[in-house]
Amino acid sequence: MNPVALPGIAAMDFSHVIYEVADSIGVITLNRPEAANAQSRKVLEELDAAWNAAARDPLVKVIVLKSNGKHFSAGHDMSSTKNSSEPVEWRADEYYDWETRHYLHYAKSWREVPKPSIAAVQGKCIAAGLMLCWPCDLIVAADDAQFSDPVLAMGICGVELHAHTWELGPRKAKELLFTGDAITAQQAEQLGMVNRVVPLQELVPTAMALAQRIARQDAFALRMAKRAVNHTLDIQGYTNAIDAIFDMHHFGHARAALVTGGIPSLAGLQRMKSGGKT
Ligand code: ZN
Repeated sequence: MNPVALPGIAAMDFSHVIYEVADSIGVITLNRPEAANAQSRKVLEELDAAWNAAARDPLVKVIVLKSNGKHFSAGHDMSSTKNSSEPVEWRADEYYDWETRHYLHYAKSWREVPKPSIAAVQGKCIAAGLMLCWPCDLIVAADDAQFSDPVLAMGICGVELHAHTWELGPRKAKELLFTGDAITAQQAEQLGMVNRVVPLQELVPTAMALAQRIARQDAFALRMAKRAVNHTLDIQGYTNAIDAIFDMHHFGHARAALVTGGIPSLAGLQRMKSGGKT
């Protein structure tokens, strides 16, 4: 496959994401392995541009999201969310705005792309890593995949897209959040969070074969089938719950800022990195 020029973003310096199209499949590859595919502002903006290109391209019927390297994604890269010209410290209102646009809105809009999408996940998928694979319709996991959301150590109730309860069921969602422990690919499959688990070397071929199989179906019927399932979840309250809990998440940020003196909670970040031992 050859990299494809993305319409409308020719001026963008696309450095952390590769977007390719072949045989009706749009393949988005997060390519920042030297940083465990942590999500900087640039990563997020490039991912969104790639998702939009795949959504707009009439030749693309199915989207595959994967990442290069050992780990799928280590979460948000908090050190590079601001432009260099901006003050280092966040105000609570601008932080709310930043997370609304770059975290919540992106994840929700990727879920709504009217084409089937498949995430291929290997290695660690930590915190905001979940916000890359959960919006996808199907998830294929390598047998070394581990999923976790340890952000309770930062004083918040989980990542910005609070889909945990929907993805895992209430008890396992609580255990994941309360302990910060990871669940394995096999456990995630048992919980219905991933569709199938395969050996690492078969991860991308499996995701691509699944995408090619789905791409043989009628595009509009696929769109309606996706809409039917998503709409069912929305009638059950999915999007309303996500939106409401986002504000709860920001109450956590605000309270942590009062306690530790900054947004995001740097003390909490340190504690998270040390496994809660400090
Ligand atoms: Zn947040």
